[in-house]
Amino acid sequence: MSDHFEVLSKCQEARAGILRTAHGTVETPVFMPVGTQATVKSLSSGDLETLGARIILANTYHLAMRPGHELIAGLGGLHRFMAWPAAILTDSGGFQVFSQSGRRTIDEDGVTFQSHVDGSTQRLTPESAMAIQAALGSDIAMAFDECPPSDAEPAVITKAMERTTRWARRCLEAEAAPGQLRFGVVQGGTSIELRRAHLAEIAGLSFDGLALGGLSVGEPPEVMHAVVAHVAPLLPADRPRYLMGVGRPQDVLAGIAAGIDMFDCVMPTRNARNGHLFVPAGHLNIANTRYRDDPRPLHEACPCEACRRYSRGYLSHLFRSKEILYYRLATVHNVQYYLNIVRAARQAIVEGRFAAYAAEQTALMEAGE
Ligand SMILES: [Zn+2]
Repeated sequence: MSDHFEVLSKCQEARAGILRTAHGTVETPVFMPVGTQATVKSLSSGDLETLGARIILANTYHLAMRPGHELIAGLGGLHRFMAWPAAILTDSGGFQVFSQSGRRTIDEDGVTFQSHVDGSTQRLTPESAMAIQAALGSDIAMAFDECPPSDAEPAVITKAMERTTRWARRCLEAEAAPGQLRFGVVQGGTSIELRRAHLAEIAGLSFDGLALGGLSVGEPPEVMHAVVAHVAPLLPADRPRYLMGVGRPQDVLAGIAAGIDMFDCVMPTRNARNGHLFVPAGHLNIANTRYRDDPRPLHEACPCEACRRYSRGYLSHLFRSKEILYYRLATVHNVQYYLNIVRAARQAIVEGRFAAYAAEQTALMEAGE
């Protein structure tokens, strides 16, 4: 058993655990709100604390481009910069860089690309991706991996896997920030065979945790669920397991059922801004005229500020008026929703009734869509 992670109870494959970081202990399974530019859009760090978030994700690529990791390091590191005392996971920048197809070139040493901020030519290598994350001082740094497109041929995926393994070794040789954990990334597209092969390689390296990358990138949800259900139980049991960029609430529950411990996704925050608000029975679209004179809260049982204090009618008005407060209240609610379903999932695991909980919640979600 590693000293930074402990599984406290299991319910079939689902796990309830404890992840110890340099900035506090995190109960798993856990959902990490995405703070791309050192802010979970529209929320203050105080808002996140009130919501009960214990770990957030920040993007290496965005912060390296603007304001620059040296500047953040000079201001005391990312925690002090954004006044966030709890844990932070940084991605490696790989996903953002590889998403810029056409504007980047890959070679064995790294990737050359153009900054989305000023168009300048930039380069990211396994060494520089780890150096940036060390400068930011995140609690968990992700290895720099090659993310092939979701529709890539098996030969292309295999080459990306092999390069990801070579890059993973280089990432582990780079210096980490004090107490910083490092996670490796398993690629392999939607092929169970390729996933198993790559998992065996990455699990053989001395990473503190393992992630499944390259999923929820356009493949049908049932395909993703099948891959996760097969592969997650094969990840080393004594290390935390992270499913990157997933997903809808029902995808998170499916991931937990497969034995995943950590999740992140822009869905709660991005959807909030678009008027898509999560409730146990699926979601409601606040743009719908039926909510204009609705005196009820978004959801009676939700403990968030938006639900405790305001009506659907008021939120509908704020949304239609594009008032700044709408974005904050909607994000508060959607993040609370995600944190709550994962917290309730953990409780259900501890009490040995996770399968029933997941089935009930998923049926509710799907009926509402
Ligand atoms: Zn709410």
